Amino acid sequence: MFDRLTAQPADKILALMQMFKEDPRPTKIDLGVGVYKNAEGVTPIMQAVKTAEKQLWEQETTKSYVGLVGDPGFSDAMIDLILGDAVPRNIVAAAATPGGTGAVRQAFEMIRMANPEARIFVSDPTWPNHLSILKYMGMEVVSYRYFDSETRGVDFTGMMDDLGALRSGDVVLLHGCCHNPTGANLNLVEWQSVIDLMQKKGAVPMIDIAYQGFGDGLEEDAAATRLVAASMPECLIAASCSKNFGIYRERTGLLMAVSQEASQHGLNQGTLAFLNRQNYSFPPDHGARLVTMVLQDPSLRADWASELEEVRLSMLGLRQHLADELQQRTGSDRFAFLAQHRGMFSRLGTTPDLVEKLRAEHAIYMVGDSRMNIAGLNATTVPILAQAIVEAGV
Ligand code: PLP
Repeated sequence: MFDRLTAQPADKILALMQMFKEDPRPTKIDLGVGVYKNAEGVTPIMQAVKTAEKQLWEQETTKSYVGLVGDPGFSDAMIDLILGDAVPRNIVAAAATPGGTGAVRQAFEMIRMANPEARIFVSDPTWPNHLSILKYMGMEVVSYRYFDSETRGVDFTGMMDDLGALRSGDVVLLHGCCHNPTGANLNLVEWQSVIDLMQKKGAVPMIDIAYQGFGDGLEEDAAATRLVAASMPECLIAASCSKNFGIYRERTGLLMAVSQEASQHGLNQGTLAFLNRQNYSFPPDHGARLVTMVLQDPSLRADWASELEEVRLSMLGLRQHLADELQQRTGSDRFAFLAQHRGMFSRLGTTPDLVEKLRAEHAIYMVGDSRMNIAGLNATTVPILAQAIVEAGV
């Protein structure tokens, strides 16, 4: 049987990680993999998470099953964090999932179940896993223009033109904040125009929010998601706790299905439970419990929010530093977009050949589409990167 299998494409980012590991040059810089790293290159465990973990170890008395959609306390805490009071709680169905990827996968499952005809509109570019999961599931994908390679901002006119092709029941996948891989984001006026268009077309938004707190702040980064949830008749929201709680390996995420029809809630909630049951039964609990404890305890919550704010500000500082270094070296504002982008990533907007040149000649590793993880930098490596970008002729 197994001899009938065909080799699947390797994950490009994981392959890059391996290459980096094997590179003997001491000056090498890793801007590839999508995890936050502090100035020492460490992905730390947040203090509030560590404290919660200690408390949990002391207090937890059983490891018995929790529930098919996870602990309701986790859903409540996350809905509060992401949606605030944008919508009443009784119109939000929610299920814990294994990470944000699990939430994305379950969202696609729910879409396919509800409307097998739905086409999924995705930004060009988007997080590659969106595309590979959709392909694996055999769902129809339509891409819409998103990144303007001249300005390195959003090609909003192109995006709206392409979304003009939406048909009733189609789904528009949008990044709630901190677009991965580009770092370029819509402003709230543009979000409103997208909402108006989706309403006109009868399309359904699906928001993937994986970096709340990494862009402009916890509230600010949720603003677009809240606007969508409050304005549209229905939407799906896939959230990840991997980055903003630093609990990548705990696999903690939440899928929300929002319907303005409160009578729809029971069916949506039941469907989410059913889909969890079919795919993995009970979702992981450990990370979800830590998140719940942090969000419910005022002191832990304050610690977490301030540590997250430090993370956010350090990335903004690195962005500004890099933009300044490049401004000084080139005498132009060509790279000012780096300071305007938000989140962990920026797309430099250069060719695969130049990305390869940066790797071969300067030991700088970024993804082939020129996505850089800004958190891979520190005050020492920013000038080195700026110099390499100039020397490579980016
Ligand atoms: N969505 C986007 C856009 C992401 O960048 C990521 C992580 O890289 C995820 C979802 C899901 O992350 P995880 O499954 O690790 O929670």
